[in-house]
Amino acid sequence: LYNILQELRGNIRVFCRIRPIFKFEAKSCIEYIGNDGSLMVFDPCKSQNTRKIFQFNKVFGPATTQGEVYKETQSLIRSVMDGYNVCIFAYGQTGAGKTYTMCGSSNGSYIISYFDLLINYSSTLEIMNCSGNGGLSIPNASIRGVQSTADVLNLMILGEKNRAFSSTAMNHRSSRSHSVLTIHVHGKDISGNTIRSCLHLVDLAGSERVDKSEVTGDQLKEAQHINKSLSCLGDVITALAQKNSHIPYRNSKLTQLLQNSLGGNAKMLMFIHPESDSHGETISTLKFAQRASTV
Ligand code: ADP
Ligand code: MG
Repeated sequence: LYNILQELRGNIRVFCRIRPIFKFEAKSCIEYIGNDGSLMVFDPCKSQNTRKIFQFNKVFGPATTQGEVYKETQSLIRSVMDGYNVCIFAYGQTGAGKTYTMCGSSNGSYIISYFDLLINYSSTLEIMNCSGNGGLSIPNASIRGVQSTADVLNLMILGEKNRAFSSTAMNHRSSRSHSVLTIHVHGKDISGNTIRSCLHLVDLAGSERVDKSEVTGDQLKEAQHINKSLSCLGDVITALAQKNSHIPYRNSKLTQLLQNSLGGNAKMLMFIHPESDSHGETISTLKFAQRASTV
């Protein structure tokens, strides 16, 4: 078991980040504990003791800066340059700080592709297997060559703008979509061997449950899609953590798309964003995280 845990610790990391509480928000349900990665949550509306403790690889409190967060991800980014595929996810309910955490930068020479999975949820997002090399081809994704960090940041800003715009055009919020930014790295190591790897930055759709009575038609269909793809992601992570022989990648487009970067030698970092304002959602967010880190 120790070995499994060691190995897991190498390949799946779960960080928790708590954004500062806004003035208009109710009392926080989070008691931030400290440097050992544990987090205490309680229900401020109940008088009895409702304290629960969750354990992560790291917890970033409200005062943590972007710089401090990125510093913790540097070794992971370096491993992309060493040829490993890496997925970094941001999970949590809308408003909890996912996009804020993900809008970072990286450097090197890369090609970049950006597309929005759920804007095309009515199945226009095609994913095809390339014959032979086990790779995937996504005809609707645009791929751009980039020279600098600034190029990447500009594309990220453009992507986020388009995401917000398409959402308004379709009369719903950008939080109702997953966005996947993939940085493809091609290079050579010191012995001249070719390196090909990717870094996926995945800003997931808000994890809040949508009350079925509040939405109908397309919106209901969409909400069900989001819930399904998030639970499929949870299933894949659980299956990987348990070292199951069958990993259910094909149950959602998101996991299908990331298949080559989840499991195997690939490394994964999940940023969990609990919303300190709402106890129920915080508990369900933290339980999702717990699935990723338990064997
Ligand atoms: P999400 O993408 O999860 O819906 P956002 O990243 O858009 O949430 O964050 C919601 C709001 O909170 C934004 O106004 C954002 O600027 C602010 N925010 C999020 N995280 C932080 C943080 N760590 N420090 C300061 N402000 C933050
Ligand atoms: Mg967002």
